[in-house]
Amino acid sequence: MQDLPTSMRTDMCGTLTAADAGRTVSVCGWVDRRREHGEHLAFIDLRDHTGVIQCVVNSSHDLRSEYVARMTGLVRPRPGETANADLATGEVEIEVTEIEILAEAEPPPFPVNDRIDVDETIRLRHRYVDLRKERLQRNLRTRARVNSAIRAGMEEQGFVEIETPMLIASTPEGARDFVVPSRKEPGSFYALPQSPQLFKQLCMVGGIDRYYQIARCLRDEDLRADRQFEFMQLDAEMSFVSQEDVFTAISHAVANAVEAVTGERPGDFERMTWQEAMERFGSDKPDTRFGMELVELTEVFDGTEARVFQAPCVKGIRMPDGVAALSRNQIDALVETCQRWGAKGLAWMKVVDGENGPALDAGVAKFLSEPESKAVINALEAEPGDMVFLIADTRRVVRHVLGLLRLELGRPPVNEGGLHFLWVVDFPLFETIADNGSPVPAHHPFTMPHVDDMDLLGASGETLLDVRSQAYDLVLNGWELGSGSIRINRSDIQNRIFELLGIGEAERQAKFGFLLDAFRFGAPPHGGFAFGIDRLTALLLGETNIREVIAFPKTQSGADPLTSAPSPIDSAHLEELGIRTLPPAT
Ligand code: ASP
Repeated sequence: MQDLPTSMRTDMCGTLTAADAGRTVSVCGWVDRRREHGEHLAFIDLRDHTGVIQCVVNSSHDLRSEYVARMTGLVRPRPGETANADLATGEVEIEVTEIEILAEAEPPPFPVNDRIDVDETIRLRHRYVDLRKERLQRNLRTRARVNSAIRAGMEEQGFVEIETPMLIASTPEGARDFVVPSRKEPGSFYALPQSPQLFKQLCMVGGIDRYYQIARCLRDEDLRADRQFEFMQLDAEMSFVSQEDVFTAISHAVANAVEAVTGERPGDFERMTWQEAMERFGSDKPDTRFGMELVELTEVFDGTEARVFQAPCVKGIRMPDGVAALSRNQIDALVETCQRWGAKGLAWMKVVDGENGPALDAGVAKFLSEPESKAVINALEAEPGDMVFLIADTRRVVRHVLGLLRLELGRPPVNEGGLHFLWVVDFPLFETIADNGSPVPAHHPFTMPHVDDMDLLGASGETLLDVRSQAYDLVLNGWELGSGSIRINRSDIQNRIFELLGIGEAERQAKFGFLLDAFRFGAPPHGGFAFGIDRLTALLLGETNIREVIAFPKTQSGADPLTSAPSPIDSAHLEELGIRTLPPAT
């Protein structure tokens, strides 16, 4: 830990050790705890961000919790039996000769030195008190290390930091924009960037070659544990590259960040195609820290007599030792949960010791023929004591629901199982076909199709869903860290995509005219990536909610209890902006 002497202090509270005994020091901080000691003396634990130090003072001083004070005195060893081995400074104390109260404090809304759960709204309302806690101090300082390691990692590779504007026209990330009304042009609005996407592409046309930015992005989406309205991402774009070059550059920056926090550089990141991820894990962001993979059983039930398994797709998962782990009530609850997730049902069976090796029992076991039972046991490599779960439905439903069930049954806690980085590649170009018959882009409309699937762009309808793209995600322990793609830089391909997406000439010009214009003046082949710094930092710290790594986050409902944002503005201001508000919808 660093000592940061100033004109008011010689040392930090948490850095004093037996080696300092005999020195006269001054420390500054907050009163963490006070204990009376006999009639005349009191022990004050004084706290700064490095830790606490025990100060022995005259008990006549009015020093209460969270008062800010400066203490001067002699560092001395604590008498043998009073030393505290749990505390970095536990072998010493300061025999205080001079106390200066720098600020008095009202009783804090919640204790700083306690691990008790405090209601989140209260924590955020008094975030400045919350920030004094060890956990947030550690998290924010770690986050700063992540940022600087990423910066260094990008700069080592020739990336140039460029700041792109906040007041812009809409970007194509597909979420809802936050908008800012224009005073100069009442009735017109700026959008706040969902990402710097179009500007970074313009940087490539402008010959920047390698751009990066630790960028604030804003998306008006429902908030979750891993999502806030505003978030930070490492945003990057490179010219004259294939996706391999992008992987190399981004992996380097991520590895730098991991090393800065854990002291260890991760090995090479794994690769998996989107198709494989969906079939084996039922997810495009598979948590590869554990097995319990989805096993294909469609062929096993080809022509089956059992009605429950007459479906276009059947897959199963095996829960090792599940028989002992799950009660009948729990199994029933799982069936209901799977139905809520969209499956018609969940077939379950126990694996028991049969006469000739493992056999299926209970649940739907009686509906399976002998060869079907054998085949299921073999395919799932089931052992006595295991539970097996099967879903028969459309391939989409089977993958989705079984993927969620796998997480429910097997996912380790966030801080266990190490860091499993995974590039998921060859994402489909289109996500679905909308009701109007147009495909919906899976990433954004500038994503380059896969080189082997260019011919398929001439197709129509459901076949278009088979078109793969040069889009990729980086996944860490089941969290989507970020995405990127190689971009389209040829107008014939771009026009075809717009045509497929049903974006007409006028809309193209209105939304992306400036980018398309720029491309007419010499656009290099380029591609890029962006990953969430909040998510990466949270995972490196073993936090499940990104709010724990953000200094001033919003609540789940998007409010800021500290500043009361969002709040109404006065009528004169509205007038100036040419805005009239409606009463809230009831
Ligand atoms: N702009 C994309 C995003 O924010 C990332 C990229 O394609 O580079 O998700």
